[in-house]
Amino acid sequence: MERRDIRDLEFEDLRRELESWGEPGYRAGQVFAWLYRRGARAFEEMSDLGRPLREALDRKFVLKGFEELSRQRGGDGAEKFLLRLEDGRLIETVLIPAPGRATVCVSTQVGCRFGCVFCASGMSGFTRNLTAGEIVGQILHVRQAIGRPVTHVVFMGMGEPLDNWENTARAVRTLNAPSGLGIAARRILISTCGLIPGLPKLAALGLQVELAVSLHAASNALRDRLVPINRKHPLDKLVPALRDYRKETGRLVTLEYVLIKGVNDSPAEAGRLGALARRVGAKVNIIPCSPVEGLKFEPVSRPEAVAFLRRVEARGVRVSLRRSKGGEIRAACGQLAGRAP
Ligand code: SF4
Repeated sequence: MERRDIRDLEFEDLRRELESWGEPGYRAGQVFAWLYRRGARAFEEMSDLGRPLREALDRKFVLKGFEELSRQRGGDGAEKFLLRLEDGRLIETVLIPAPGRATVCVSTQVGCRFGCVFCASGMSGFTRNLTAGEIVGQILHVRQAIGRPVTHVVFMGMGEPLDNWENTARAVRTLNAPSGLGIAARRILISTCGLIPGLPKLAALGLQVELAVSLHAASNALRDRLVPINRKHPLDKLVPALRDYRKETGRLVTLEYVLIKGVNDSPAEAGRLGALARRVGAKVNIIPCSPVEGLKFEPVSRPEAVAFLRRVEARGVRVSLRRSKGGEIRAACGQLAGRAP
C-alpha cells in the first residue's frame, strides 16, 4: 500500500487516526508541532514520541520533500525556487520579501488547464493537482531556506486553486490552524481566474481569507480572448457571483488587471473596469504585464498606467498600481512555468 504524505492530513484527521491506534489525542499536537513548528523532515527526529509510535508513523506515512533544482534571486529581492516533486514533476514557488514580512507565492497544480493567454503556466497544459502536503510543503521549504517565518501566503503560482479545491482548502486550514503554521487567514490570499462554482465553496470555508480575481478585461468580447474560462463563466454571471460572495462573507474582493499595451489599456476599457468594480464593490489592482517568452505582449509605460488608473478611479473605486515583483527572474504573475532554467 502506498504510504500517504502525513502533511495531507489535517489536525483532526491525524488525531482520529492516532486514537484509532490507541494513542492519546494529544499525540497529534506533538506530531503537528514537529511538522509545522520545528520543520521535522523525518519521523525519527520526533524525539518526544516513543520509538514504537515513530515506527508506526513511518510504516503508514511519509514526509515528502522537494529537491531544490535552483534558487534565483532578482534585483528586487524576489526569489524563485524551482522544485522537483517526488514523481519528478517540476513546480515553482516564489518568495517576495519586504521589510517585516515574507510572502510566499505557492503553486497548486502542475501546469494549468485554463490557458490565459499571457500566462506561462497554462502554455503546456495541465498535468496534475498538487496534494495538500505539496502545497503546504512549499511554505515549509521556503521557511527552511530563508531561516525565518513566512508571514503571508498568496495562491498565485502555477495552477488554479479553485480547480483543486479540496487540496487547497486542506492546505489553507493547516496554514491557518494554531496547531499548523498559525498564519492569520487575512494574510492568505486565494487568486482565481473566475471559476464561479468555486466561490460558494470558498465562502463556506468560513475563514477570512482574501480573494483576488484575475479579471484582465471588463468586456466579454475581450475577456473571452484573454481569459478563455470567460466563455463558460462570463462577466454577467461572474459579477453577481462575486456580489453574492461579498454578501456571504463580508470580505472585500480584489480585481487583478494585468495591463497590456494595445490590448486592454483603452480609455473605454478603463471606464468599463471602473463600472464593473463598482457593481461588485471591489478594489482594483493594476499590474503592468511582464514579458513571457514566446508571447508578444508589451507593458505600458508608467505614465500610461497612471492615466488608466485615474480613469478607473474616476468611477469611485479604490485602485492601486502594483509593481510586479520578480519580473527579471520570470517569477512574476503569469510567468511561472515549472521549467528548468
Ligand atoms: S493565470 Fe492562473 S488560471 Fe490562468 S493560465 Fe495562468 S495559472 Fe492558469
